[in-house]
Amino acid sequence: MIVSYMGADACALYLFDDDIQILTLKASKGLCVDATGNIPSELGEGLAGIAFNEMQAVREGDTVKNSGFCSSLAIPILRGKNRIGAILLQSVKIDYFSDEDINTFRAITAQLVSTIEMAKLLFSFDHPKVNPVVEPQAIELKFIQGRVGAEGFAFGDSVVFAPLLLGDFKVLDGENDLTVDDFHRAIILTEQELYAMQKVIEKKLLDVVALIFSAQIMMLKDQSMIGAMEAMMANGIPPQDAVRAVVLQYVARFDQMTNEYVREKRYDVIDVGRRILTNMFGRMDSHHQYAAKVVIVHELLPSDVLKLSLQNVAGIVLLSGGITSHVAILARSLNIPLVIVDEPRLLTLQDGSSILLDGAMGNISIEPSEDVIRAFQEKQAVHADDNRIQEGLLAETCMNDGTRVVLLANINILADLAVAKAFKAEGVGLYRTEFPFLLRGDFPSEEEQCIIYRRLVEDMKGREITFRTLDIGGDKMLSYYDNGKEANPFLGLRSIRFSLKHLDIFVCQIRAILRASFDTDVRIMFPMISSVEEFVVARNLVMESAGALKAEGKPHQGRPSIGAMIEIPSILEVIDELAQQADFFSIGTNDLIQYMLAVDRTNEKVADCYFPHHPAVLRSMKRVAEAAHRHQRDISVCGDMAHDPRYISFLIGIGIHKFSLDARYLPQIQQRIMAIDARRAEAFAAELLGKASVDETARLLNETLL
Ligand code: PEP
Ligand code: MG
Repeated sequence: MIVSYMGADACALYLFDDDIQILTLKASKGLCVDATGNIPSELGEGLAGIAFNEMQAVREGDTVKNSGFCSSLAIPILRGKNRIGAILLQSVKIDYFSDEDINTFRAITAQLVSTIEMAKLLFSFDHPKVNPVVEPQAIELKFIQGRVGAEGFAFGDSVVFAPLLLGDFKVLDGENDLTVDDFHRAIILTEQELYAMQKVIEKKLLDVVALIFSAQIMMLKDQSMIGAMEAMMANGIPPQDAVRAVVLQYVARFDQMTNEYVREKRYDVIDVGRRILTNMFGRMDSHHQYAAKVVIVHELLPSDVLKLSLQNVAGIVLLSGGITSHVAILARSLNIPLVIVDEPRLLTLQDGSSILLDGAMGNISIEPSEDVIRAFQEKQAVHADDNRIQEGLLAETCMNDGTRVVLLANINILADLAVAKAFKAEGVGLYRTEFPFLLRGDFPSEEEQCIIYRRLVEDMKGREITFRTLDIGGDKMLSYYDNGKEANPFLGLRSIRFSLKHLDIFVCQIRAILRASFDTDVRIMFPMISSVEEFVVARNLVMESAGALKAEGKPHQGRPSIGAMIEIPSILEVIDELAQQADFFSIGTNDLIQYMLAVDRTNEKVADCYFPHHPAVLRSMKRVAEAAHRHQRDISVCGDMAHDPRYISFLIGIGIHKFSLDARYLPQIQQRIMAIDARRAEAFAAELLGKASVDETARLLNETLL
């Protein structure tokens, strides 16, 4: 396929064998010959070896006379900075491969990485002893108070997202025993389902899904895995037990892996095992395995959230241990109610127990009584009223004295755009560009990013659009990139620091943003700016990238507005100097509070010390607003304080008239703003700023809202 897509004549794939430290030829199409006239098979030989060693594309245009090929192009296969192999393309034409081809070939290669890694892994497995199957136990749990991950209600049957459930599949009394033919039929059905799901999800979530079902499809085609199941069946073991046993063997093997990313593949094996079993028993369509269910899960990967969303899961109960806020943010974007509770016994809850999940209060009820269900239905009715309020939203927001306030949306994934428009956002005040990076299997190429960003630009044309450059690190770790273990990731190689340490990744992103917005005004902002120099270095890279694109003759945006997120306390002391360099400020209150109060925003143990209303936070925000006004710079708030009605009066009172928030909060915030009078807000802010204790500010804020 690569040969035909690239219009080449030959292609060869080399993979690096970690054990023998050699790059070996694994597949080829056409006769692929290097400068020595041989098919290179060892590291260091030929162009593929050079590309692999130097971790960059290598091209020759007029070389190999005796091989019949004149042009060659080799690209390393990388996962982050890890080298996996190299691919070589050849053509009989002279100077055949262009710069554009290098980019395209790189994008194709990036897509192949997960598939290749999975294949390598499956090859390397043999089949150790069978693990025992643990049966679920019934437990007595009634009501559990947890924390809100993503708002919304769900009422449905429970299902535990865990390997234990493989034990559910039993031939019941009166049913015929399953046969090997049933097994083979189930394999075919499962494969068809997976392909169909891949297609649907690609359409729905173009920006964040790469080939998320490819690992599972490959497992179905893996002769050693399927063969092991068949061998057991040949020895008289019932098909369901053979599937279960081999799946558990693989899970055990994955569990031993040191690489976290590879270890996570255990969930894919479990998932594929469940699908085969479901299809074999024909009891229900595994496509809808989680449809309308409340899923209980110990740990969740972002790709699992996508899969669950695809299957129209009703809600998610996430147990402590695997809490990462981007999983919650994603659940919000996908409209899946999610509650985080610290109750591991839930994992042993009998499947099919009825669960009521209240994502507004952050609690769950198990086998709720009639009264609890009635109260829940009443709440849902109120929620339906909320939906009617949403229909009454105005395109522009003004305070009750007519002062204009701009309401923008925070976008995590492109699917949020539809909600943002439905809720009349005037633009995008924060596009968290790291989500495609977090959810795909590898760094998206410049081309891929350009396609994603262009979608956003086209969708929001004519409105304000702010791209926030990569905010990797902290709780947003890339599973495929080993950043090394950091004792304090929130104080580590995070955000703009990561970008400035990895200029290839950063420049690639900047180029993609500038290219995608060639015909539109856009704003670019850098997260976690801690000094003026840091901002200037990042800004200069944007301007240099624009210069490079101009020299290359590529359409691009040459003069974007460039701003800084205000979320690190050190920047407050040099805020005037920063204002002279930056076009705008956007206050990221989530991190500003975290760093100012030294309270980890994801740590449950210190959640009661996380005070947005701490006088130091309020006063520092006032300083930022004043500096912005002094230098006539645009200022907005894009952290969660912008969607909390308690703080809006204060923020307006210190002169901030632009907010960017999760679009689902827009109706509520618009209503609140429409009731505010500018002069009264100023007086209120002055009074609040006069309070020196957290208790006093809390009291005043509560009184005012009442
Ligand atoms: C913030 O810190 O307030 C912010 C908006 O950025 P994020 O939540 O993505 O860190
Ligand atoms: Mg932040």
